[in-house]
Amino acid sequence: MPRHALRDGLRVEAGKRPHLGRTDPRDTLGLSGKDEAADVVARCSERLEALQSLLASEDRRSLLLVLQGMDASGKDGVARALCGAMNPMILRMAAFGVPTKPELRHDFLWRIARELPERGRVGLFNRSHYEDVLVVRVDGLVPEETWRPRYGQIARFEERLAETGTTVVKVMLHISRDEQLERLRERAQDPLKRWKFSADDLRKRDRWDAYMAAYEDAIEATGTEDAPWYVVPADRKWARNALVLEILTHVLEGMDLPEPPPPEGLPPGFLPGT
Ligand code: AMP
Ligand code: MG
Repeated sequence: MPRHALRDGLRVEAGKRPHLGRTDPRDTLGLSGKDEAADVVARCSERLEALQSLLASEDRRSLLLVLQGMDASGKDGVARALCGAMNPMILRMAAFGVPTKPELRHDFLWRIARELPERGRVGLFNRSHYEDVLVVRVDGLVPEETWRPRYGQIARFEERLAETGTTVVKVMLHISRDEQLERLRERAQDPLKRWKFSADDLRKRDRWDAYMAAYEDAIEATGTEDAPWYVVPADRKWARNALVLEILTHVLEGMDLPEPPPPEGLPPGFLPGT
């Protein structure tokens, strides 16, 4: 099977509404198991090594990867996998939790804009401005007249990013409610995982359907040609990591990053044949 076929089924067409209830979180997109997934990871890591260097030496554009998903869907795990594959000088991570008081004194995109990747860098957002139409909507933290216009505000914000040199790609890690329960139990049980446990996650879990509807609305309203969404099945960690790495590699390949010209101003004889 040609490898590029893996991610093809995951991209949500611009303006289309995904049907999360009919999308299997256990799907592996044809990956037969951990060994094959490890091959994909190795191949993507090798490409990423080269692509990140081209991005850094071009020093003109950047890439933003937004990671969203329910609690325990694997955002941290994906972040760790990407850290393992990329140079920490080039991959910059930001995580967004409950907004602080100063953050709440600004519009919701303010804290996001401050963490955008600079030229020549890849930014990884562990949660993002999408929380402002997900948890904020489902928990009713602001009235509908405030969150409803945010879909358009987000789409215009991301459109501007694309126009000014930041490629945006958005990934929803799609975990099943059963698998989430397993993982939350594990977090509550294992002393070394307990730092990640929050009783609040159980409360959010009770509103699963409302969250899925909010995700579907967000993906439909903000998926564009320039800033597409991918829904990645996330019940199997090995498939999830391989798929996200493949998406990232594919997006960087699509940027057609040029090979840097030789540096100027070198003394004669510094390079062979000069
Ligand atoms: P974690 O990612 O597990 O560290 O948790 C971060 C928490 O912050 C999650 O429960 C998010 O839903 C919450 N959060 C993130 N952004 C916002 C926001 N804009 N408003 C309210 N809660 C948020
Ligand atoms: Mg959490």
